[in-house]
Amino acid sequence: MTKPVLIIGGGPAGLSAAHALATAGRKTILVEKEDRLGGAPILSGYARLVPSHEWASDAIGGMVTRVEQNPLVEVHTNATVQTFDGGPGNFTALLKDGTKIEADSTILTTGFTHFDSINKPEWGFGTYPDVVTTTQVEQMISSGKGVRCPSDGRIPDRVAILLCVGSRDRQIGREWCSKICCTVSANIAMEIREMSPKTNVYIYYMDIRTFGLYEGEFYWGSQEDYKVKYVKARIAEVTSDGKRLLVKGEDTLVKRPISIPFDMVVHAVGMDPNVDNMTISSVFGVDLNRWGYIGRQSTYAHLAETSRPGVFVAGAATGPETIDDSIAQGHAAAMAALNLTNMAMKTAAE
Ligand SMILES: Cc1cc2nc3c(=O)[nH]c(=O)nc-3n(C[C@H](O)[C@H](O)[C@H](O)COP(=O)(O)OP(=O)(O)OC[C@H]3O[C@@H](n4cnc5c(N)ncnc54)[C@H](O)[C@@H]3O)c2cc1C
Ligand code: SF4
Repeated sequence: MTKPVLIIGGGPAGLSAAHALATAGRKTILVEKEDRLGGAPILSGYARLVPSHEWASDAIGGMVTRVEQNPLVEVHTNATVQTFDGGPGNFTALLKDGTKIEADSTILTTGFTHFDSINKPEWGFGTYPDVVTTTQVEQMISSGKGVRCPSDGRIPDRVAILLCVGSRDRQIGREWCSKICCTVSANIAMEIREMSPKTNVYIYYMDIRTFGLYEGEFYWGSQEDYKVKYVKARIAEVTSDGKRLLVKGEDTLVKRPISIPFDMVVHAVGMDPNVDNMTISSVFGVDLNRWGYIGRQSTYAHLAETSRPGVFVAGAATGPETIDDSIAQGHAAAMAALNLTNMAMKTAAE
């Protein structure tokens, strides 16, 4: 008889892997450290997702319900794995509440951590209340109350969105591009303009990476249909003149210094490796890559494999990923887990 597949992390990648395995008739045990499933889109209260424009609560919430209602999936929330021993076909995990789990294989879908803007103090976060992050703006939109300045609740006349906060920044050890924040920022800018047509929105960028099919709808659409303005700039600091925030730096197209007043400044925060990754690496015995994400053994042939046989990985645990790619990787990891069992059964029968 086969043992269940253990999945660690109940975000889009883990939900996708659990659903795929249960659909194939395999029992799955899903372990999530927070008190509910859904990963970043649910836990951080994202609003409408790109590229589908569906509310995160509907789209990812639907994935949560599908898994929670499946009798083949056993969910443990508020749970983490303390020890993990054995090999393929014969793993034993001990949860912090003392629960012992036996598993054929394991899939790590432990995701990422939002960059903490406090690590970019010169851009005003933590000093001025009206300097916020894209995550906070997502929460303002999904709450239904609209985008308002935290200092006094007024609707802002002028909003600046600063891209690449905690990404593409070697000075703070984050050289990667977080992939989705240009498109998310263009989407947020359009949402703000739709909710409050009098608010002017400016996006300050080094390069725009609304990759693939996102270019037409989000980059051009935000300018042509919503009059969002894009400024190519190097931002030096965000300060205040006592009344308004000042975004200071250099307009790199005309090569002139700028100091522009705003009511609200939004940091488009990047996707850091999960803060738990050192512990995850040590408990599960898997290698991290040089950036601190969980390493994959191969880019093409064995997409889901880690350095430890029988332990697979998917989604933003491997590096910055979009939701749809995380879901696809969750499926791939489920397939790898099924293959492992099939191979073991075939060998046993020979
Ligand atoms: C501001 C912002 C907006 C975004 N908007 C979009 C968008 O509109 N469209 C899009 O495609 N992408 C978007 N993204 C990217 C999106 O958040 C990720 O693609 C997605 O969350 C990755 O899913 P995941 O399941 O791999 O990881 P996560 O969503 O991070 O889920 C990981 C889960 O694992 C759990 N976990 C972590 N460590 C442990 C542990 N040790 N033990 C047990 N459980 C653990 C976590 O609590 C979490 O539930 C956005 C990103 C940001 C920063
Ligand atoms: S997607 Fe855009 S904002 Fe995000 S890191 Fe890459 S270039 Fe910067």
